[in-house]
Amino acid sequence: AQVLGGRTDVVVIGGGQAGLSAGYYLHRFGLGDRTVMLDHSPGPGGAWQFRWPTLTLAGANNVHDLPGLGLSEALGTECDQWPARTAVPDYFAQYEDKFDLKVQRPVHIRTVSKEGDDFRVTAADGSHLLARTVINATGTWDRPFIPYVPGIESYTGTQLHTHDYFGPGAFAGQRVLVVGAGISAVQLLIEIAREAEGVQTFWCSRTEPRFTERSFTAEQGRAAVARVEQRVRAGLAPGSVVSVTGLPVNDAIRSARADGILQWRPMFTRITDTGVCWDCTPGHAGSDHLDVDVILWCTGFRSSLDHLAPLKLRGPGGGIVMTGRLATVVAAEPRVQLLGYGPSASTIGANRAGREAARVVQDVLSRSPERT
Ligand code: FAD
Repeated sequence: AQVLGGRTDVVVIGGGQAGLSAGYYLHRFGLGDRTVMLDHSPGPGGAWQFRWPTLTLAGANNVHDLPGLGLSEALGTECDQWPARTAVPDYFAQYEDKFDLKVQRPVHIRTVSKEGDDFRVTAADGSHLLARTVINATGTWDRPFIPYVPGIESYTGTQLHTHDYFGPGAFAGQRVLVVGAGISAVQLLIEIAREAEGVQTFWCSRTEPRFTERSFTAEQGRAAVARVEQRVRAGLAPGSVVSVTGLPVNDAIRSARADGILQWRPMFTRITDTGVCWDCTPGHAGSDHLDVDVILWCTGFRSSLDHLAPLKLRGPGGGIVMTGRLATVVAAEPRVQLLGYGPSASTIGANRAGREAARVVQDVLSRSPERT
């Protein structure tokens, strides 16, 4: 049987934090039975179901409560040390049940295109659905980003991305270079250095990691979000909400520093067949060469928006011009909203954007209540 068919007023693509928040408010605003929710993952949990097994809820940055049912209300107050990859899916599953959010899974959306006044939402099996409004909440997990470094194609060792990390065990006895200046880079570097037997670790990134002894204030958070919001309103690539906040020093970082694990070097300029080097030319590795068995790229993610390509939303600034009260609305296509993009790319931002998206949809539908 074909997975999709017919016509709907609202389609929500993606059932992570952003999609569920939107679904919750669509129901609250009386639009639940005019909404279809789709997700290509095997079960509830959004990207959290794919995080590495050693990431606990306490080790995550903070998973904000979804509206109407808090995480500790769902899981109990003792869940801090639980793996995020099972705890969050458990939470989201309860959430979907409680609010009767019927997310169809697994349904991979291959393309969204225009068809008259509607949007044609096409699944991997070729079946499609017509929708009057689209809430896109497809996150970033499926678009791991690896920067281009000259020579990368000649490297014969192992390369992997945070996306594919599955714990420190695989790195025993190896020389591992971690690349990146964010929280994931630091966490994985410490974990590998401490737990993989006989491992040697190295650390590089393009920008120098900024450690801060002060914990991150709500004001700094708002400023970081405002900067990203300004960028997407101008049609620039969003940049990261968290990259500007620095790395708050915790006990694990303090002791890793004391043990010499966090020795950082600036970014290498070339990759060779056996490692990396600084200020070297092809074929002349020179003295500043480091042989490594593994390069672990903790270099972030981009928005998973490939399925929206037929709508040609990207402008010359490399991003999509966004508008609306919380910058959820695509300026060129006001019945398409992007959640988890730019300023809403955090669990708290996704929550807020979900409410705003439902409000915008309510507004659009009330202005043209009849199906055409
Ligand atoms: P996701 O949770 O990624 O959900 C998107 C959903 O869309 C997925 O279920 C996916 O299956 C589905 N999907 C994607 N493409 C398609 C398609 N074509 N068709 C159908 N379905 C599709 N933020 C925080 O606030 N706190 C943290 O602690 C935190 N930790 C993070 C750790 C890591 C390693 C990373 C990468 C990010 C972290 N973030 C954190 C950012 C975080 O991912 C977001 O805040 C939040 O989880 C994103 O929710 P989302 O709903 O936008 O996306």
